[in-house]
Amino acid sequence: MSEVRVRIAPSPSGNLHIGTARTALFNYLFAKKNNGKFILRIEDTDAERTSQEYVDNIFDSLKALGLNWDEGPDVGGNYGPYTQSERFDIYPKYIQQLLDKGFAYECFCTPEELEAEKEEATKNKKAYVYSKKCENLTEDEKAKLRAEGRKPAIRFNVSKAQKAFHDSSVLEFEDMVKGKLHMDTNLIGDFVIMKSNGTPTYNYAVVIDDALMHITHVIRGEDHISNTYKQILIFEALGFEVPKFGHLGMILAPDRSKLSKRHGATAVSDFVEQGYLTEALLNFVALLGWSPSDGQEIKSVDEIAADFRINEISSSNSIFEYDKLKWMNSHYIKMLPMDVLKEKLKKYLTKYDLSELTPEQFDRMIEITREPLVLLSDITDAVSYFFGGDKVEVDPKAKEEVLSTELSQDVLKAFVEQGETWEWTEENLHEKLEVFRAKFKEEKGYKPKFTMWAIRAAVTGRTCGADMVAILAILGKENSLKRARASIIKTAV
Ligand code: GLU
Repeated sequence: MSEVRVRIAPSPSGNLHIGTARTALFNYLFAKKNNGKFILRIEDTDAERTSQEYVDNIFDSLKALGLNWDEGPDVGGNYGPYTQSERFDIYPKYIQQLLDKGFAYECFCTPEELEAEKEEATKNKKAYVYSKKCENLTEDEKAKLRAEGRKPAIRFNVSKAQKAFHDSSVLEFEDMVKGKLHMDTNLIGDFVIMKSNGTPTYNYAVVIDDALMHITHVIRGEDHISNTYKQILIFEALGFEVPKFGHLGMILAPDRSKLSKRHGATAVSDFVEQGYLTEALLNFVALLGWSPSDGQEIKSVDEIAADFRINEISSSNSIFEYDKLKWMNSHYIKMLPMDVLKEKLKKYLTKYDLSELTPEQFDRMIEITREPLVLLSDITDAVSYFFGGDKVEVDPKAKEEVLSTELSQDVLKAFVEQGETWEWTEENLHEKLEVFRAKFKEEKGYKPKFTMWAIRAAVTGRTCGADMVAILAILGKENSLKRARASIIKTAV
């Protein structure tokens, strides 16, 4: 068998969508599994809808995900993507071949004429199919139209190609994911393959590129199934080998509508910005349609590749459960080695003056706050009370529910007084506070939990958070006691 070659072919009309990332991953896995090649091709024939910013985003997002492609034009020693707009000189040659073989023809219809045809179809409640009005124009008629200043588009002659290569009007193919699929090609109108301005359309350019890049397997979203029939006919008309196709089910939002921004992030870069790890994103999207044979959902890309079989991909749609992704992300955060985690978190700590902490204090702060992180960005809020020196913002709930009680006031007065004499190390504070709590329990019946709650509310301004003893040690004696003192309500003497 020839070498397996697959591609991801995003159109840069937006940032890399999480659905495209899944398609890229499945292609990448398929290539890996079969010792094949994975190719990136930017499909930017539609100049109005594309921008360099999106090209860069696609490029960077795939790199960040580790979905590196195996070949492409040399850019500074790295593989760049193949880009359709840089290949415009390639496409006319095959248009000419199609014209010569009679599988394409020039169409001089104006947008107004086409619109009128469409309106007529709507009026008659019929699906619109181009009338083939220009199929048999004579050279004289064409010359006349040209003289009027009309520039022709090129249309593919669907029925002619179908008749040349198939016994009936039904075109069938074996989809790697969905099994046998078929369509009556009478329902496909002769479609434009090159616009009158000379730009190739998607269905045409994709075939030329897949053929010239020797793509053996086309794996993409099921929204492209209707295009596949058109593309197969072009492959056949040009005598190219038809690749195998595999169409993946769509990714739907939890409410079963199309996944869109109103449900949450949809672009890989937005997920990353929000604090999702690329490992979690990849693991999560792999499970949208694919199930591990051992039922173990947490898997690295290499493990997934070893277990991956394209024909086992579910042909139905998958639901994008943001909650499951969050769960997975928190798992991956827990698995990160401390030094890697620290580096990743720095991006979310820029609003703080990190010089307030020694490197050891910083490390300890991360150690005691990392456990509940669901997103890396959660760290911003989780550590806010470590900064600000002797001042802390106390949230209203802590003030009303905790600090205003007699119990809390008693505790804080004792804490600031006794604390002055304590050696302020984590180990020692641990012991001292144990005695402190026990004493309050014995003398006043205060539950140890409430004693610590009072200190927490005053020192961190919150009712919950990380290990309190460690927090005190990191903040230091002076800051901790000043904060506690600030929460003591002054009573008139
Ligand atoms: N450029 C197409 C898109 O972004 C994909 C083409 C394909 O995979 O054949 O939807």
